[in-house]
Amino acid sequence: MESAAHYDVIVLGGGPAGLTAAIYLSRARVKTLVLTEGTAGGQMTLTHEIANYPGIEKINGYMLGSVMKKQATAFGAVVKGNTGIGSMSLDGFPKSITTSDGQTFTSDAVILATGGRSRTLGVPGEDTFRGKGISYCATCDGDFFTGKEIVAVGGGNSALEEAVSLTKYATKVTIVHQFDHFQAFEYAVEEARANSKISFVMSSTIDSFYGDENLEGVKIKNMVNGEVTDFRTDGVFVFIGYVPNTESLRGIININERGEIIAGADMSTSIEGVYAAGDAIAKRYRQVTTAVSDGTVAALAAADYLHSLKRI
Ligand SMILES: Cc1cc2nc3c(=O)[nH]c(=O)nc-3n(C[C@H](O)[C@H](O)[C@H](O)COP(=O)(O)OP(=O)(O)OC[C@H]3O[C@@H](n4cnc5c(N)ncnc54)[C@H](O)[C@@H]3O)c2cc1C
Repeated sequence: MESAAHYDVIVLGGGPAGLTAAIYLSRARVKTLVLTEGTAGGQMTLTHEIANYPGIEKINGYMLGSVMKKQATAFGAVVKGNTGIGSMSLDGFPKSITTSDGQTFTSDAVILATGGRSRTLGVPGEDTFRGKGISYCATCDGDFFTGKEIVAVGGGNSALEEAVSLTKYATKVTIVHQFDHFQAFEYAVEEARANSKISFVMSSTIDSFYGDENLEGVKIKNMVNGEVTDFRTDGVFVFIGYVPNTESLRGIININERGEIIAGADMSTSIEGVYAAGDAIAKRYRQVTTAVSDGTVAALAAADYLHSLKRI
């Protein structure tokens, strides 16, 4: 006999991937629970404006998350926000997840949509000016810096490629990198060096951010002589890496050396009945649209799986 806490599918993570999965599942009358750390909406809640979600000209990220949650709950999904995950057992039936406050929920399938976070510099002012001049995503925010002079921090492939892409908008991009050489493929270095809008401040790091309402500048520290210089700028893009939220899945499911969940085209993982979607999986492009797409596929594949077992 099933307990009251049994669901057909538990979705871990309430960002766009998890909420989309919940919309599709609950609309198909699949009993669905979403457990998410933080506010439903995920990383979208960190941005004041999303202008590249098709069909909606411009929307506040928190608002888009709220509407997705409303859609999911209207179809019958249960969404529990601010829920820490204590432990989980994903093999066999039922799969079970215990929250950090001791509640246990079971299900026949699980969708992992725990997303990720950009690596941050961890220097003074970063929290204050995040979204007010500091960005971690050129595709998302580049357009807001049209005609401005900006800074890009980092020296890997994505830093150099994103810096080049930002020159479509900005009049000048200054790359600040902590070493005297880049850790990127030669083609990426050559492309950045050949771009007349890009200049370089090597062996240097961001010491702090400052401003009033919005970011107005940065203090740049030379790593060789320790000298700190003032650099006025309207925007700083930080490209120093990405961290998937998969720490709690280590040793449970197949993840790669970057901590990303390995998922198939149908979002299946190394465990039967466990699917993964969104920014937490191994893939190149991380956007709301790609998360929503992954969530759709994971939900449909999970529903097909439960049908094949005659569990729904
Ligand atoms: C500042 C900013 C601006 C952006 N702007 C845009 C934009 O304009 N356009 C665009 O397309 N994309 C934008 N993005 C990217 C977009 O937000 C992400 O690609 C998208 O949110 C990924 O969705 P997701 O559901 O996979 O993960 P997330 O949005 O990361 O959501 C995952 C959720 O799972 C929760 N979680 C983590 N670990 C666990 C766990 N163990 N158990 C349960 N829950 C857990 C997290 O707290 C989070 O709420 C932006 C991102 C940022 C940070």
